Amino acid sequence: MSYVCDNCGRGVQYGESGRHGRGVAGGRWKKRAQRTRKVFKPNLHKYMGSKYCTKCLRKIKGQRITVVAAAA
Ligand SMILES: [Zn+2]
Repeated sequence: MSYVCDNCGRGVQYGESGRHGRGVAGGRWKKRAQRTRKVFKPNLHKYMGSKYCTKCLRKIKGQRITVVAAAA
């Protein structure tokens, strides 16, 4: 049970976030924010008993055919 699309294998991705814009931290010039891990989760939905990302869902629902899981 991992957070992965059953059709294309798209999963959780990581990035960094640290906001240093003028609006943050009271407008001071100093270093404003630590960098933290940002988690990008795919937009998964349950459909016909398995999980699909929105991209695959659109394809599947458009085709209206039972899915043969292609690993690509
Ligand atoms: Zn997918």
